[in-house]
Amino acid sequence: MMRSPAGVGMTSQRTRARMIERLRERGIRDEQVLAAIAAVPRHLFVEEALASRAYEDTALPLGFSQTISQPYVVARMIELLREGRAGLGKTLEIGAGCGYQAAVLAQLTSEVYAVERIEPLLARAKLNLRAIKQFRVRLKYADGQQGIPEAAPFDTIIVAAAAQGVPPLLLQQLALGGRMLLPLGSASQQLVLIEKRAEGYVESRLDDVRFVPLLPGVE
Ligand code: SAH
Repeated sequence: MMRSPAGVGMTSQRTRARMIERLRERGIRDEQVLAAIAAVPRHLFVEEALASRAYEDTALPLGFSQTISQPYVVARMIELLREGRAGLGKTLEIGAGCGYQAAVLAQLTSEVYAVERIEPLLARAKLNLRAIKQFRVRLKYADGQQGIPEAAPFDTIIVAAAAQGVPPLLLQQLALGGRMLLPLGSASQQLVLIEKRAEGYVESRLDDVRFVPLLPGVE
């Protein structure tokens, strides 16, 4: 059977609407973020066997020891990056996985770059984004710790894997007034928000989180 973007049964509009209600209950307030999540058919980004669970608010396995991020975490991170700003501007995502978060970001801003170090996952992200006719995302197979120097500077950098420290090249590729959000740590991790201001970098530690590790090199 063709997997339709509209979905049926457990992947229907009603099931999706319930997920949005849950995100609201959990504290997501940014209506544009909720609308962006509602617009992306998450069931097309997971394996068919897991499609019926795609609108549960949970991370799901993607293979290659990686996961598709939990919708709440995607919503929360994008909300934090948007808070008090006109928009996300030129955005870089590190750790595209199957392309889900990149698709959500592309609902909110016109320039999205996403980097992934596992080639088969990058290939899947390409297919998934094409399937939903999302052509705004530029995907790159590379070690995200290097950023994308040729496309820098970025107004927004969002990292979907946990680093031990802030990758210096990413910091360098942040525009003045730009924001980067990344999980830091190993056994215990926290979201760290970094803003680049004229007087320097301003860092704030936020929620406790659980991400797969940011790994060096490519596979
Ligand atoms: N953004 C994805 C989450 C994928 S999980 C989503 O929307 O669901 C995190 C991803 O980060 C994994 O696919 C992993 O391979 C990737 N990753 C880890 N270290 C990386 C690095 N140095 N460069 C690029 N991608 C990396």
